[in-house]
Amino acid sequence: MEGKTHAIVGAASYVALANKLPGKFSFLGMFIVVFAALLPDIDHPKSLFNKYILPIKNKTTKMILYFSLGVLVLWFDYLYTNEKALKALGISFIFIGISSHRNGLTHSLIGLWVFGFVSEYFGKTFGMPQIKYYVILGYSTHLICDSMTKMGLPLFYPFLRKKIKLPLAFKVGSKTGKFIEGIISTLALVYMVYMLPSMHV
Ligand SMILES: [Zn+2]
Repeated sequence: MEGKTHAIVGAASYVALANKLPGKFSFLGMFIVVFAALLPDIDHPKSLFNKYILPIKNKTTKMILYFSLGVLVLWFDYLYTNEKALKALGISFIFIGISSHRNGLTHSLIGLWVFGFVSEYFGKTFGMPQIKYYVILGYSTHLICDSMTKMGLPLFYPFLRKKIKLPLAFKVGSKTGKFIEGIISTLALVYMVYMLPSMHV
């Protein structure tokens, strides 16, 4: 799915579930959920995130940047922290560097687990333990949304490379795809506009 659909669905899911999660509804919370909803597509050189991160939007730049980032995180961890979460993050960045779009870690349950684990560490470090729930929520909405597309996703990577998708999947970028994403986004936006005034910030 397109980045903006992921962002809107993530935000709406937070509005729907914020009161059931630890911590109060906040716009920072929403920002983290939206961030996590966009996160799995960092394996695509032209995704919303990489548009801002990568100086040149192609596979080689993506590979070099994430590979180096991974090495840097591992090096930092080796020198200063010796923390499992940072090791997991460093190794993940290296995997993101070498894998192509929707073929690896970030679109799998292991990816969800890794980023949940890493966010738990950052949540503890910054005194915001609820971050973990926000990241897991946003990230899950991304995986659910992508399972509605023809390309599917390698949910059980690296154990099973088979791409999983729902029976009525659509092609991203096709007329039907754009129409369905438009409807999903509109519904999610209407829901948010309706619900937001009643949220306790
Ligand atoms: Zn995706």
